[in-house]
Amino acid sequence: MFTRFAPSPTGLLHLGHAYAAEVAFQLAVRRGGTCLLRFEDIDHTRIRPEYYEAAIKDLDWLGIRFEETPWRQLDRLDAYGLTLETLKSLGVVYPCFCTRREIEAELDAMTSAPQGPEGPLYPGTCRGLGAGKIAALRAEGREPAWRIDAAAAAERCGPLTFEDLRFGRVEVDPFLLGDAVLARRDIGTSYHLAVVTDDAAQQISHVTRGEDLLASTHLHRVLQALLGFPEPRYLHHPLVTDSSGRRLAKRDDARALRTYRESGLSPAEIHAMLPPLPVACSE
Ligand code: GLU
Repeated sequence: MFTRFAPSPTGLLHLGHAYAAEVAFQLAVRRGGTCLLRFEDIDHTRIRPEYYEAAIKDLDWLGIRFEETPWRQLDRLDAYGLTLETLKSLGVVYPCFCTRREIEAELDAMTSAPQGPEGPLYPGTCRGLGAGKIAALRAEGREPAWRIDAAAAAERCGPLTFEDLRFGRVEVDPFLLGDAVLARRDIGTSYHLAVVTDDAAQQISHVTRGEDLLASTHLHRVLQALLGFPEPRYLHHPLVTDSSGRRLAKRDDARALRTYRESGLSPAEIHAMLPPLPVACSE
């Protein structure tokens, strides 16, 4: 069995990362599996080269070591392109030429905009654009993003579920994130497309991630079903919060593991600051 820890090298790791890494690592240890490290670095304008090494060093200090060379998603753009081509051939994605401003204007003009877990959903403006219109927009030099056609995808997949080691069996709502972007204009992929492609390629049997990403898992199951990828099991873990209950942000440098280490704390003291691991990690 394989798990993975998948941080973005956009900052130093903090306690929230330590916890997420520990969940992935301990689940693998308990079940005789292997935990892989994958850098989610497609946010190419926000990453910094020094954060890759820093992450490996901080995790090593905590006793979390990886047997295999870490993957970097920026090395895998061709693989994501192939996944997108498959989705195109299935007719479940469409090109979207809207700018952010155009989407906002469209939503403002609607009496009731469709709502997702993190705000309004894409109103579907480019769904059903004809070939002529698409050619005309391309001729103007406009490059599209690619969105999932949630209705077409849902129809193709039929009912789906996923199994979560904390929450049990969950019914998939294919419309939860609406017609989400699968391939951004600037990089040709998205978190969703990349993570589903990589989890399949690395044969990840247990996907552990923060419970803030539960909504994304609904979309990921749809993508896995469309692509014929295996269904992993999930463990959505609680998030580490500060004393006022707010989720730790990467910008909160005071809480970087590096800062704790430099101020003389031991790995054991870091572990003592983390919430208990989900029971699945000790069964
Ligand atoms: N990079 C994501 C994070 O830092 C993890 C995504 C995942 O595990 O699927 O929260």
